[in-house]
Amino acid sequence: MHKINHIGIAVPSIDATLPFYRDQLGMACLGIEEVAEQKVKVAMLSIGESKIELLEPTAEDSPVARFLEKSGQGIHHIAYEVTDIEVAIASLLADGARMIDEKPRQGAHGTRIAFLHPKSSHGVLTELCQSGH
Ligand code: ZN
Repeated sequence: MHKINHIGIAVPSIDATLPFYRDQLGMACLGIEEVAEQKVKVAMLSIGESKIELLEPTAEDSPVARFLEKSGQGIHHIAYEVTDIEVAIASLLADGARMIDEKPRQGAHGTRIAFLHPKSSHGVLTELCQSGH
């Protein structure tokens, strides 16, 4: 684990939120894509060596829709970059951590990701992220 890859922010609408990050804060938008498996639309913005990930639910039963309902818009998770996600997961499991994803799944922009269980990360939803390149 060597840096923060991105911070995920749940929003009801990327169209309504993007101008703030792109135009007012001046971040470059790296692209918008839909991750069907997680029922979200994702916009990635570049800030130095890290990114901001805006997450908009595409279905009412999307986990992000449930988050917005419960907590409103705001920080949803922090993603740490790992060089080998299988090794990182195995090491956490060996340490007794609980994972939502014991196997990596496909994230946005060619990444492979896995979430820790919030009970094992002291209330902060934590994502491991291995870059696709
Ligand atoms: Zn993320």
